[in-house]
Amino acid sequence: MEIACLDLEGVLIPEIWVGLAERTGIQELRATTRDIPDYDVLMTQRLGLLKQHNLGINDIQSVIDDMSPLEGASEFLDWLREHFQVVILSDTYYEFARPLMRQLGFPTLLCHRLGIDTSGKITEYHLRQVDPKRHAVKAFHSLKYRVIAAGDSYNDTSMLAEADAGILFNAPENVVSEFPQFPSVHSYEALIGAFKNASNRVI
Ligand SMILES: [Mg+2]
Repeated sequence: MEIACLDLEGVLIPEIWVGLAERTGIQELRATTRDIPDYDVLMTQRLGLLKQHNLGINDIQSVIDDMSPLEGASEFLDWLREHFQVVILSDTYYEFARPLMRQLGFPTLLCHRLGIDTSGKITEYHLRQVDPKRHAVKAFHSLKYRVIAAGDSYNDTSMLAEADAGILFNAPENVVSEFPQFPSVHSYEALIGAFKNASNRVI
């Protein structure tokens, strides 16, 4: 039995924080772990900015509602779900991803969640566990699934390494050259080809 594990941002949907920065005009929201390596410091800054600009979860969801999955993502996901059980493993939050997941037909998503008070203000964030993508692959192995995983960034590489086959999709050049063991593709058509190659079945 085979299961496909997909990263979300950069694979099926645009980067949510970048989209929020563009749509709200708050440029500091563009910062990523490349700028601020300590995730706690980064998230505290992001939540501070949202609070400072008086943005609650409803405002943010309506901004995200305006975003769309990447072009061709829905059709790719439809193909994948026809041939594999599919689980999306992401470092985003359910409350942010929901408007985009709706557009993708609510595939199974394992990610983190936000703490929101009764007035809709985001007060905290809850990370489900450390290195969650790799742990999910290990868990699927314990259920006797063979895992094929695809992602675009550093935070996917432990998932790709733990999987039986890992694929880089639209990854930046530095990630591609640092992880030459993973095939690297740049279109959904090529990603379908990579999943077919990685499968132990004839698809
Ligand atoms: Mg990503």
